[in-house]
Amino acid sequence: MADGHIDLARCRILISNDDGIESPGIKVLERIAGDLSEDVWVVAPEQEQSGASHSLTTRRPLRMREVARRRYMVDGTPTDCVLIAVKRLLRDRPPDLVLSGINAGSNVGEDLTYSGTVAAAMEATLLGIPAMALSQDYRGGHDIPWKTGEAFAAEVIRRLLRRPWPDSTLFNINFPGVPPEEAAGFAVTSQGKRAIADNLTEGVDPRGRPYYWIGPVRDGGAAEPGTDVAALAGNRVSITPVHLDLTNVPVLAALRKVFE
Ligand code: MN
Repeated sequence: MADGHIDLARCRILISNDDGIESPGIKVLERIAGDLSEDVWVVAPEQEQSGASHSLTTRRPLRMREVARRRYMVDGTPTDCVLIAVKRLLRDRPPDLVLSGINAGSNVGEDLTYSGTVAAAMEATLLGIPAMALSQDYRGGHDIPWKTGEAFAAEVIRRLLRRPWPDSTLFNINFPGVPPEEAAGFAVTSQGKRAIADNLTEGVDPRGRPYYWIGPVRDGGAAEPGTDVAALAGNRVSITPVHLDLTNVPVLAALRKVFE
């Protein structure tokens, strides 16, 4: 599939997520995928795995249970789910496309390194399968506007599949936290940065011992133009190509002078 041009009607789609198989966002994504193809499979975590990043469960056995036709849950991480789906459940005919999400909340900037939603797409990419991570932003005090992701996801998926798929790359897609009619089009973006506030809450447990509870990162400051953070601030659908080679290439030459 590296040459792209996937035929969507005959496409086998695997869906996973990090919010768990019972989350509303995965059901939205199942509807979207079901309109694109008749060959849609779901393998998702039994429990919420937000913040699980690309973790792999190695110190205990994993169980997969069928909950409905072509719908399975695994008592592990998003990475576990994609691995088991591709290497076992669908091994006779692996998926042509992996979709992860739709996550409840955006995955932009530094979130990419924490996100289990993005990690499911990373795992698929490592296995050589085109993958997209999809997340729905929302504004505090408002319901999550799932209709926005539902309105734009199919168009984004179709357009991305029309091009040759770049090597070792996934696409990170974020839908703005406004109703679909207020969305201001598409933006191709780079990974941005957010001002990270102190998100640790301290307390004392019922046995008198101190604890720390990590809360959400609050947005702050002005976003750099062209980034995923700025796109969402401008009510646009953000599409970021994410490369799995983490090497900082411009630094290589200078560093070689120091060591070689
Ligand atoms: Mn999540």
